[in-house]
Amino acid sequence: MVNLEKVQEWITLFIESLCGKQAYLDRLDSFIGDGDHGMNMAHGAVALRRTFEQDPPQSVEELLRRTGMTLISNVGGTAGALYGSAFLEMAKASQTSDDLGKILEAGLGGIQKIGKAEASEKTMVDVWLPVIAAVETKQLTAEKIEAAVASTKDIQATKGRASYLGAGSHGHVDPGAASSGYLFQAMMDGGV
Ligand code: ADP
Ligand code: MG
Ligand code: MG
Repeated sequence: MVNLEKVQEWITLFIESLCGKQAYLDRLDSFIGDGDHGMNMAHGAVALRRTFEQDPPQSVEELLRRTGMTLISNVGGTAGALYGSAFLEMAKASQTSDDLGKILEAGLGGIQKIGKAEASEKTMVDVWLPVIAAVETKQLTAEKIEAAVASTKDIQATKGRASYLGAGSHGHVDPGAASSGYLFQAMMDGGV
C-alpha cells in the first residue's frame, strides 16, 4: 500500500542515486546518445531536493505531482518530459488508488502518451513493463530490475536519439532504462 512516508523515502533515495550515478548515466548516453542523461537527471534531482526541503508535501498526490512538475521544468531533454508525464499520471492515479501496480501502470501510460514507445525499442519502457508485471504478482526483486536494465543492451533502438545509430545502438545499455532501474530500486528500498 502506498503512503506518504514510503513515497517520500522512495523519492529521497531516487534523488540520492541520480546524484551519485550522474557520471555513469552520462557515459551510457555518450555511447548511444548525446552524453547528457546523467546531467539532465541530476539537475532534476537537485531541484527536487530544493523544493521538498523548502516546502514538504502533505500528501502522496502532492508529492508525485510536484515531482512531475519539477522534472518537466528542470530536466533538459526527452527524459524530463517522459518522467514528468509519468509522475503527473501517477499523481492522478494516487487520488483514486493506493495500489502500487495501478499507480505505476498510470505512470507508464504517461510515458507512452508522450513517447509512443512499445516493448523492445530500447527505452525506459523496457524496464517499466517487466517491473510493473512483477509488482502486480508481488515478485519484484533487485535481480529482476537489473535484468530488465541489462536486457536493453541487446536491443536495436527504434525510438529516441539512439535510433539514429541503427544497428550501432547494439551492445550498450539504454541510459533511460538505467535511470528507471534506479527509480525502481529506490522504490524497493523505500519499502513502497
Ligand atoms: P535526450 O535524448 O533528449 O538527450 P536524455 O538523454 O535525458 O534525453 O534521455 C534519453 C532517454 O530517454 C533514453 O535513454 C530513453 O530511455 C528515453 N527515451 C527517449 N525517447 C523515448 C521514447 N520515445 N519513449 C520512451 N523513452 C524514451
Ligand atoms: Mg541525452
Ligand atoms: Mg540531450
